[in-house]
Parts: sequence; structure tokens; C-alpha cells
Amino acid sequence: MGNQTVQTEEKVWSPEACKAAAEELRNSHPSDILAWAVQQFGPSDLTLACSFGYEDVALVDMLVKLNPDVDIFYLDTGLLFRETYETRDRLAERYQKDFIRVATDLTLEQQAREWGDQLWARDPNQCCYLRKVAPLEKQLNSYRAWITGIRREQSPTRANAEVVEWDTKFQLVKINPLAFWTSEQVWSYIKENEVPYNPLHDRHYPSLGCEPCTRPVKPGEDPRAGRWAGFMKTECGLHK
Ligand code: SF4
Repeated sequence: MGNQTVQTEEKVWSPEACKAAAEELRNSHPSDILAWAVQQFGPSDLTLACSFGYEDVALVDMLVKLNPDVDIFYLDTGLLFRETYETRDRLAERYQKDFIRVATDLTLEQQAREWGDQLWARDPNQCCYLRKVAPLEKQLNSYRAWITGIRREQSPTRANAEVVEWDTKFQLVKINPLAFWTSEQVWSYIKENEVPYNPLHDRHYPSLGCEPCTRPVKPGEDPRAGRWAGFMKTECGLHK
């Protein structure tokens, strides 16, 4: 379980300290929560995980405007949609920002040799572990806090998300500035600020992941119904 704290120059961050911060910030605008995070952790101990989905591109816009030096990384499984890589490139140009590529050393060919072809179609938990969770764990070792695009509305597993939490899985502070925002609020922000976004969202892909595991959703379906369709799986394993 680890020692359940991380320390900055000014403060020891524990689950209790995160809870107190969450209560203080829960009604704040996401930009103000990000400003708070930059002030608490400084740009070098803080990072944003970006999947290039719509929540994350809104956060990229807010964060770069506040402090362009905070690291932004993405998990490159080697199986992302072409449109996702193109969105990365459009954002990089618009914000003059390099996105840090985080990937497993295991190529898709090595994975097929060691675990069999198309592991995602047989054991998506193992595939997500190899291609997402393990590289993420390694990446987060360099920081004291990470920012995510989690919203309560996204799924029942996220319904209790707080704007600041102690991440029991990776043992650092987790900041979810959009926890209380609706999908409509995020899209309004994107439109008002002309943030580049993934065109797949206009083709009924509300939640984006790897190409083999993501399909468009039908009207009225849960926004995450297009992820790992056919499996009892709704999360990559990045979030508890
Ligand atoms: Fe593998 Fe699918 Fe997970 Fe991507 S989303 S890492 S392809 S199981």
C-alpha cells in the first residue's frame, strides 16, 4: 500500500489532506483548480495525463494558458486511432507544446509472440496492464501529483470522484478538475475557446481508447458503452 503520503516543500500530502483540499475546491472552476495545483506542486512535480479525448483537450487548453511548463503525457499503446494522433499534432502546433510519449517496451509483435495474437480480444485486462497500466506506473514515479479528465457523470465507477484525491493505486495526489462538470459544460468550453478536438467525437465516439476496443455508441447508450464491448470491463485499470 506504500506510505500514503507525498511531500512538497510546504506540505505533506496524505489522504486526509486531499480530502480537505477537495472540500475547499469542490465548487471552483476547473481553471482555478488547475491554478491551485500549479501553486501547490509547482510545474515540475505535476503532470497531466492526456488521452486526446474531449475532456483532456479542454484541460490542455486551461493548463497551457496557466503554465506552459507542466508536463503533459499520453499513453501510446500503438493502437490509437489515426485521428487521435492527428489531434495530438494539431494541439502540439496550436499550443507549441511537446506531448511526452509514454509506451511499453513491448512491441505489438513481441506481445503477440509472448501472449498470443490480438490479446485485447481475449484478455483485455492483461493487454491494458501491459500497454497502459505498467507504463503509467513508471511515468508517475517522477511526480507528486497527476491531473486527469475524470468526471462523475462518465460512469458509475467514477460517480464519487473528487476534485482532489489520494490515488491509492499509484500513491500520489490525483486532481480531477472536471469531476463535477457535465459533458455540455466541457463542450461549451471547447467551443468558446476554439480548442482543437478529436473529430471522432462528431462520429458518435464519446469515449476514445484503442481502435480495436472502441466502437461508436447508439443514441441513448451509455457514453462508455463503446469501450470493450462484449466484455465486463469499463476501465483500463488506470483509475481505481
Ligand atoms: Fe489493449 Fe484494448 Fe486496453 Fe488498448 S484498450 S491496451 S488494445 S485491451
